[in-house]
Amino acid sequence: MQIQFWGTRGSIPKPGPTTIRYGGNTLCHELRTARGTLVIIDCGTGLHGLGLKLSSGGGRGLAGHILISHTHWDHIQGVPFFAPFFVPGNKWDIYGPKGLNQSLRDTLAGQMQHTYFPITPDEFGASIRYHDLLEGMFEIDDVRVRTQYLNHPALTLGYRLEADGATAVYCCDHEPFSRDVAEGHREFFGLDQQHADFIDGADLLIHDAQYTAAEYPSKVGWGHSSTEFVVKLAQHANVKQVVLTHHDPLRTDEALDGIVEKLRDGLRVDHSAVLVSAAAEGKAIEVKSSGILPSRSSREEFSATTSVKPALSNRWVLIKVADVKVATALDEAVHAEGLRATFCSSSDMARKLIAKDLPSLAIIDHAVADDSGEEILDVLRATKGGEFPVVMVAAREHEERRVTDWLTTPFTQSYARTKIRAWVLREACRWIRAPIPRDEPARLTSLRALNLLDTEPEERFDRITRLAIALFNVPMATITLVDESRQWFKSCQGTAGREDPRDASFCAHVVYNREPMIVVDTLNDERFADNPLVLGGPRIRFYAGYPLTLDDGGCIGTLCLLDTRPHTLKEIDFEQLRDLALIVMEQFQA
Ligand SMILES: [Zn+2]
Ligand SMILES: [Zn+2]
Repeated sequence: MQIQFWGTRGSIPKPGPTTIRYGGNTLCHELRTARGTLVIIDCGTGLHGLGLKLSSGGGRGLAGHILISHTHWDHIQGVPFFAPFFVPGNKWDIYGPKGLNQSLRDTLAGQMQHTYFPITPDEFGASIRYHDLLEGMFEIDDVRVRTQYLNHPALTLGYRLEADGATAVYCCDHEPFSRDVAEGHREFFGLDQQHADFIDGADLLIHDAQYTAAEYPSKVGWGHSSTEFVVKLAQHANVKQVVLTHHDPLRTDEALDGIVEKLRDGLRVDHSAVLVSAAAEGKAIEVKSSGILPSRSSREEFSATTSVKPALSNRWVLIKVADVKVATALDEAVHAEGLRATFCSSSDMARKLIAKDLPSLAIIDHAVADDSGEEILDVLRATKGGEFPVVMVAAREHEERRVTDWLTTPFTQSYARTKIRAWVLREACRWIRAPIPRDEPARLTSLRALNLLDTEPEERFDRITRLAIALFNVPMATITLVDESRQWFKSCQGTAGREDPRDASFCAHVVYNREPMIVVDTLNDERFADNPLVLGGPRIRFYAGYPLTLDDGGCIGTLCLLDTRPHTLKEIDFEQLRDLALIVMEQFQA
């Protein structure tokens, strides 16, 4: 694939005699795959020139995709001036991070309100589709796109694009999560390591590098990286070539030359093979595969273009802070994001609140005088597991493995809001794992006593699943046993696997509730829309499960029906499903 730079400047356009070679337009990139797919990344003022080039042949019949990192001006100001938007028949898809209360379209329309601009997005002649993105993975023709939230005072997505066997990663705007990592005092860890994992093995990395390490201490919290950090990141993440961009408006061509020269000297001393340059308007780079296998992100199973709305109603944030000013600021930030804030004074209070309804996020002050903050952490982790997001408020981050993210004081409201929104969206858009039943140890003992796990398929069970398929007109039916960390199929028709992780198991919900469960269309169900068994194979759209309960009361699994298409309820006759489940039980206990 080829990437051309149409804008390289951060914050504000800066054309003039000091920026002739590296360019004065704000960020915009044109990516073309060998097959001709067009992906535009960010829409700063550089988009104007790209629009003119695309329109040169009359500008009709154009189609393309536009990825927006975030909606700060320097990334969207070219939108109202993009000529191909005004030509009827052109087709554009615009993708950007999803807000909590406002769609991408509304946000873009904001800068085109009557007071600021004479034309509204409704008057674009082209057909434009807007896609709100979350963290995850999706495909644009022959381009595979992964997204991950960056650290910036607005909700911002980084993009990892794989096409033609090569990988390019774009991260603007981004500041290291940890100041110690940003300033090179500490090796990559936590969220900064996650950022490096997202970039890992890229053939080309285009990264925000607005400041130098010398300038950075006075710019902490502004949401940008230093050139030195970006080169260190590129080395750490096995990047082949790194291009520094989002140049500071005050950076002259000569200054950029000097910066790049110094960085190259450092790489030579390190015997590093990483190629470094500064993005220059008009330059193009052919991105070729380095043959390094792209890393597999743990989030790739999540669709970034999820079709369900994240379940955001009634979301609340648990807060435990000592400082009144910090408490007020957090309260305002949480409310501005349309969420509820609940302040906890003790771990007892936290326990009571959590028992009623789990929060989406906890924000805890590192300096809480008593250690009730620690206790609240224990309560949360015990109830919700190790992945529960906890943001710790402190003047400086500390060594604390149980903390997911740090909010260093003083913070701006926009920074706090971005962190809150990112963590709540991450939580809201995952699937819901079934809770562990209260009688789990006894249930597992009963299950294992049957001596069925990991045995060969048997005709007496396969007969029942075949019958289920015929009776209910579904392509798949299984007899599922829910083991400690997996679901295992004693019989399965129409699907190849023998087991799945328990986390993704639909049947585990039936086992927990001890009641039959029907999901008419998984894509319309917040509990399952992002489940890996829905987004990936066997692409479950319909589920019906009947609990298999032993005489001793232990619910060990289900007889379940699956389809890749939605079903209506009345197609499933529960009496018949129950009869089949009872036959399975008789066989189990025979
Ligand atoms: Zn920017
Ligand atoms: Zn920005």
